[in-house]
Amino acid sequence: MLFDTHCHLSLVIKNKIDINYIIKNALNKSVTSIFDISAGIADFVIRRALVKEVTEKHGCTIYLSAGIPPYFCDKRIPGDIDEVKEQAEGEKSVVGIGEIGLDYFHDYGEKSQQISLFIEQIEVANKLNLPIVVHTREADADLVETLKHHQTLKNGIIHCFSSGIPTVKKLLDLGFYISFAGNVTYKKSGRIQDAAGYVPDDRYLIETDSPYLSPAVYRGKPNEPAYIAETAIFLAGLRGIELEFLADQTAENARMVLGIGDEK
Ligand SMILES: [Zn+2]
Repeated sequence: MLFDTHCHLSLVIKNKIDINYIIKNALNKSVTSIFDISAGIADFVIRRALVKEVTEKHGCTIYLSAGIPPYFCDKRIPGDIDEVKEQAEGEKSVVGIGEIGLDYFHDYGEKSQQISLFIEQIEVANKLNLPIVVHTREADADLVETLKHHQTLKNGIIHCFSSGIPTVKKLLDLGFYISFAGNVTYKKSGRIQDAAGYVPDDRYLIETDSPYLSPAVYRGKPNEPAYIAETAIFLAGLRGIELEFLADQTAENARMVLGIGDEK
């Protein structure tokens, strides 16, 4: 059984792809759990409806996050943080706050705006005793500093880890789980691969970040949860373990960090 710990189903189906088709493909590859991540507060209603439809029909369990990504930091609306809190409190499928974090690669407002949006949501997560899902790009130093000074009660996941061993060491010390996406399979990803080999057995996860970042074999095509199998095969080779063992380890790690029971 595979657990895709970062996926945006509402974006996957935007290209008029049927959700039932996507989930059947996923189940064919033994993907039985998906953590569907917020890409903004506005799509929460659609995402909540997807959970009902999919879980009831197919028996693939979808968990939700609530949160405001850093790219909204200069487009904030009054009461946005309260809305995140309400979404998280009002829906039992919500098991984390995210994706939140820092992205200095793109030009999303001031760094200070990003940092304050990030901190405000760490506080929501701590109030609700939920883990966070962290998006980070070109912001390693500020990320580590922010997380040191605003500690999370439940830790969380560093999603789509794309740095090297020095950063991964600091994030592991802070208690975070490290999630690897399709980009770990790319030829030029030596640094990420080094980190993926370094993270201990009980602290790594796999994800698709669908519809983005398809693994090498599907590069250029929109990503979907089924393609996580390719990343799993690659990582099992890299870590020198059986695929089944990797699937069990990463699914168990996902359940640990998200605080969910052994349902499957
Ligand atoms: Zn994402």
